[in-house]
Amino acid sequence: MAEIEPQIPRELSFLDIVSIFAETRDPMERRNRIITRIFGQRPSSDENRPFQFVLRELMERSGRPVPASDETIMNITTVTVENAESNECKICADTFLQGETKKILDCEHEFHSECLDPWLKIKNICPVCKEQI
Ligand SMILES: [Zn+2]
Ligand SMILES: [Zn+2]
Repeated sequence: MAEIEPQIPRELSFLDIVSIFAETRDPMERRNRIITRIFGQRPSSDENRPFQFVLRELMERSGRPVPASDETIMNITTVTVENAESNECKICADTFLQGETKKILDCEHEFHSECLDPWLKIKNICPVCKEQI
């Protein structure tokens, strides 16, 4: 399978922003032009969506990792360890002890909840195999 070159968002300079503000007075149009400059494409036409959804969609389209949504995190299989296990959390390398909470991803990699949760707030992929969550 051919690998798609991810589109890296550009940074805007202060002058870019000044020129965008000079081009139009409409706040929504300014917003869209700023997004277009950064991501190289305009957001889709639904203008009423909150800004974070527009950004999220563009980041997904550009191939950059995005944080897992709260809903995704809630849906991950979570179990309380009944008996101490010899396998270990791939983030902290400690074994699972009785009473600890662990999360099991669809790829079957297991982590302590408190180890995995901060990671998921940055990237919605498994820290070991990079499978999308
Ligand atoms: Zn851990
Ligand atoms: Zn995995």
